[in-house]
Amino acid sequence: MLEGVANSSPSALTKRRIHLHTWKVAFLVLVLLVVIPLFICFNLDLRQKAFPENHVRAMVTITMDDGTIGQYSYAFPVLRNRGIPATSFLVANRTEPSSPWYVSVSQALEMQSAGWEIGSHSRTHRDLTALADQEIWDEVRGSKILFDSWGFNITSFAYPEGEYNARVLEIVSQSYNIARGVSSSNQPYDFDYLTFENRYNKLGWVSHESMPGIKALIDQTISENKWLILGFHMFYSDGRADECEDFPAIADYIQAKVGSGKLKAVNLIQGWDEWARSKKMNI
Ligand SMILES: [Zn+2]
Repeated sequence: MLEGVANSSPSALTKRRIHLHTWKVAFLVLVLLVVIPLFICFNLDLRQKAFPENHVRAMVTITMDDGTIGQYSYAFPVLRNRGIPATSFLVANRTEPSSPWYVSVSQALEMQSAGWEIGSHSRTHRDLTALADQEIWDEVRGSKILFDSWGFNITSFAYPEGEYNARVLEIVSQSYNIARGVSSSNQPYDFDYLTFENRYNKLGWVSHESMPGIKALIDQTISENKWLILGFHMFYSDGRADECEDFPAIADYIQAKVGSGKLKAVNLIQGWDEWARSKKMNI
């Protein structure tokens, strides 16, 4: 050993130092280019998996029933300008032949191509629970066949007057992915308790709320990470709707929350897809 050192010439020592230095540099390069990036990727991956399995960002869905013309003339531009989609439930026999009181097929197609969802609110808006089976089929499946033949892709249904029973629900479930009722609950629906059966109704429908009331519901939806479904009917030129005195202010509020990343604005079927995915359900 001593002999080896003693026999080492100064140039050999220098070579060894250079050799050692090269290995140090190679090691540092390896750490910088391979180990650290791998560590970062691994950690990011862990962080993504750390989210609760049922994590879903709070969502709001604006739905409107009956296809009255203000939905196209007033609500549509207000929401389109703010990048907010909605679901409009039309009654098939009110769209054709076109009437000045109701959204026409061509207007609804325009809404659909702007990201809105068009849903069926039946063929003639009768109480489905008072009908015979064949009539229910005609209202439920018959309206979907009509709408689809006009160029829509209908997957959502809204019960006329919110009325349904087990038979109606069974027939609806054979033609639609989701149906919306008119639950009187004014709280965001707690989806942890949603069952297969009531996926076809009671999704947290809200109506006739004061402006502070609707804003408070949106805040509550965000803080509880839930899905709020709002229901509207007629809209007027001065910004009023049947359910609130200033619809553009509601849209502004939603837009601000969406802009800050706290809320997703989705139509009904998008919300359902998102929620079902988060629950890893097979639908
Ligand atoms: Zn209705």
